[in-house]
Parts: sequence; structure tokens; C-alpha cells
Amino acid sequence: MKGRYLLAFMCLMTQSLRAQLTDEVIRNLKGGNLKEDKSFVYQLPYAKGSKFLLIQAYNSKMSHQGELSLDFKMKKGSTICAARAGIVIATKADSDVGGLKDEYLSEGNHIIIEQEDGSTAMYWHLQKNGVLVKMGDSVKQGQAIGYSGNTGYTAFPHLHFQVQDKEGHDLATRFNTKNGIRYLRPGKWYRAL
Ligand SMILES: [Zn+2]
Repeated sequence: MKGRYLLAFMCLMTQSLRAQLTDEVIRNLKGGNLKEDKSFVYQLPYAKGSKFLLIQAYNSKMSHQGELSLDFKMKKGSTICAARAGIVIATKADSDVGGLKDEYLSEGNHIIIEQEDGSTAMYWHLQKNGVLVKMGDSVKQGQAIGYSGNTGYTAFPHLHFQVQDKEGHDLATRFNTKNGIRYLRPGKWYRAL
């Protein structure tokens, strides 16, 4: 009986692990090939001291299927900070509409930052006029860049954060948290340090 509970528990663990890691990382973990994670350590994308609930993480069924991105639930007007340094390559701040309609897909205010290694970080659903940077600006890690909102294809006020490599493939990112360096899990609160 004990063994069966343990098995069920391990299945649950595997599922939650799957939710936060890419297939490649899982393969490497299983094969014992992942000796050391040397990936960049991101800062949580909001103001130091503030904490938010991670609603959706990697590959979530709700709207992140096949996507490595993170949704932090936050009330409109929360300060968004650069998770990593880079150059601003796109912004949109003129939209004031949002909801779960296809016509809102192109209505999301956002900031896209090209990071030091050529990857891009995207910050979505910002409030109207909620962008503090402009194209070509160089931003530091932790710098305030905008204010959260509920514009574009979105069901509730939140920040959608996503990082892609040069080829447009999503990248899993790990963050500095009070419990150490972590890949984030849905249903947990994370305070920016
Ligand atoms: Zn999202």
C-alpha cells in the first residue's frame, strides 16, 4: 500500500516537473546528462519587494499549450521591471481594450527587449500608456519599464512574460527567488528580491 502511494506521489511530482521544464531538459535529467545549469538567472519582472501569484507556467492547458511562458496575476498599474538587461526593440502602448476575443489578439500593449545573448524577452498586456521606455533604449536588469494592465487577448489583469531565442523558440528561464534560483511553478507566490 505504501509503495502505491509513493508511486502516485512520484507521478504527481513528475507532472509538476513536466509543467516547468522543457522536454529536452527532462530528457537530459533522466539521462543524467544535465550536470550543471549555466543558464542566465533572471530577476522577477516586477518591483523589488512586491509579490505576485504565478497563474500559468510552461505548457499550461489554459492558454500556454506548447508554449514556455509565465502569467503573473497582478492588478492594473503594477510596476513591471526588466528581468534582464537589453535593448528595447518594440513597444505598443495605445490600446485600451482586452478580453478573450480574437479581435483583441493584436491589441495587447507590450515591450520587447533584445537581451545580451540575442534572445528576446516579451512583457504583454500592459495598461494604456503604460510603457516607460522607447525603441532603442538600453535598459538595466531591474529597471522599471512599464505598468501592467489587461490589454489584448487576456481573461484578467496579468503580466505575460516570455523569452525566445534568435530562431523564435521559447526558452525556459530560471529566477532568483527567496528560496534560491528556481524555475517557477504555477499556484505559487513569488516576491521580487
Ligand atoms: Zn499568458
